[in-house]
Amino acid sequence: MASSDQKENEDRKKLLFHICCAACLSYVHKIINPEKYEIMGYFYNPQVHGRTEYNKRLSDVRKYCDENKIDLTVPEYQIQEFFDPIMPYQDKNSIKYIKDKKRWRTKRCQLCHSQVLGKTADEAKKMKANMFSTTMLTSPYKDHDEIWNIGLEIEREKKIPFFYTDFRKGYWYGRNYARNHSMLIPTYCGCSYSAEEAILE
Ligand code: SF4
Repeated sequence: MASSDQKENEDRKKLLFHICCAACLSYVHKIINPEKYEIMGYFYNPQVHGRTEYNKRLSDVRKYCDENKIDLTVPEYQIQEFFDPIMPYQDKNSIKYIKDKKRWRTKRCQLCHSQVLGKTADEAKKMKANMFSTTMLTSPYKDHDEIWNIGLEIEREKKIPFFYTDFRKGYWYGRNYARNHSMLIPTYCGCSYSAEEAILE
């Protein structure tokens, strides 16, 4: 006969989070109810520019997951998975070329979010998780409606629920957590374009 602890564990939903950095993860992990959800992590970030930045984000996430007993999956870092979908929109010889800077940025971020969430959903299905989501929902700089819509599109296409919660009020909690634990506080979203934009803005 199953014990009550076993029963509770069986009732918990498995929730795979795409993790962008330890700062955002720290808040998501703090507020997700562990009696209802078992959080698992997926560090899939081909968009992150620069090995040093990528490695630092990853080592902080590994440390956090080790200390908090979160299962973490880390696929190979392949930056072309970020560039392949976006390049036709930057190529002047392509019919998809977008000249306008604002429109290009919007398109680029949509494709980037689709890539990251799509792969997270695939991985969630592979590991028989009940839902997928992303710690990017902690950022006040992200377009939440857009992420939500992309998440729902992927939910319909891949037949696995997208878990949406507005985690934005924990943005500063995450930054403080990272500072107090000597972890990286990212200064740009991830890609080389965002690194340049962060300097200019
Ligand atoms: S700014 Fe952020 S969301 Fe947009 S393409 Fe770059 S890494 Fe992706």
